Amino acid sequence: MSEILYGSEIAQTVKDGLKKELDQLRLQQKRIPKLVVVLVGDNPSSLSYVTGKEKACSAIGMDHELIHLPEQTTQSELMNVVQRLNQDAAVDGILVQLPLPKHLQEREILLAIDPKKDVDGFHPYNIGRMMMQDPVYLPCTPKGIIYMLETIGLDDLSGKEAVVIGRSNIVGKPVAQLLLNKNATVTVCHSQTKDIKEVAKRGDILVVAVGKPRLINHEWIKKGAVVIDVGVNRDEHNKLCGDVDFEDVKDMVSYITPVPKGVGPMTIAMLLENTMESYKRRENIYGI
Ligand code: NAP
Repeated sequence: MSEILYGSEIAQTVKDGLKKELDQLRLQQKRIPKLVVVLVGDNPSSLSYVTGKEKACSAIGMDHELIHLPEQTTQSELMNVVQRLNQDAAVDGILVQLPLPKHLQEREILLAIDPKKDVDGFHPYNIGRMMMQDPVYLPCTPKGIIYMLETIGLDDLSGKEAVVIGRSNIVGKPVAQLLLNKNATVTVCHSQTKDIKEVAKRGDILVVAVGKPRLINHEWIKKGAVVIDVGVNRDEHNKLCGDVDFEDVKDMVSYITPVPKGVGPMTIAMLLENTMESYKRRENIYGI
């Protein structure tokens, strides 16, 4: 029997928990955690992602600020903004929305963010800590995927084969590492993988992060697999869809995430959770 794994529902539970904590902080008249999102330019997808993050903060009562800079912002202007936020004691989380306009050096900007405020988990310091299984902040989409697997009882993945399609720094590589940390035997595929459908078919867990509408059909799927579809695409009718052909595979899998309402809402919930963690560290609530 197949089940649809609604990230939207799991994310709501996470957000409800955070809201309770925030209500409590307000009651105690404590400082409220704050997330600052920096957006450069007017890329429509980025604008919609940023709006989603703002709405999520408002809904749970987390402080937030959007710094919306013009497209022609220079590298040094953006660096100054990041450095100011690093030093601002009221700011717990800094997120620079990617992609940046082409004239800006993305890597230099990400490196400039204080790793303790890097709630996106993209700073090499945080990536390194993740590799060493000593995480500070996990990148939000991979963290959300692992969280979803845990909710269906997939905590220890010993003896399971996990196949990840896609090797980006923000999804494919980190999710592969997190699956490995959970004892899965992990294979990462990409555009140069030979016999990719055969490789994909080995996956008890198949994570797809490619960015090609409905690329994955039943020929790629092991019967009973858990399928996590990270892709967010528009099809030929401009309809939102994932990388997986949901209708074609849904009856042969054990679990599958839909698009929308799958991985996307989890990414935002994990961003809020990382910001709360940063706050607790900075306020010394953990005593560390
Ligand atoms: P990306 O940086 O463009 O990476 C895509 C990966 O897919 C690359 O590793 C590429 O291989 C591989 N690939 C491309 N065509 C392939 C094919 N035909 N067969 C096998 N592999 C192929 O993408 P990304 O940033 O990881 O994002 C992937 C998708 O996830 C996008 O739709 C994006 O919008 C979505 N996304 C969603 C969320 C969310 O929260 N829901 C978060 C992040 C991303 P090479 O490395 O060989 O080029």
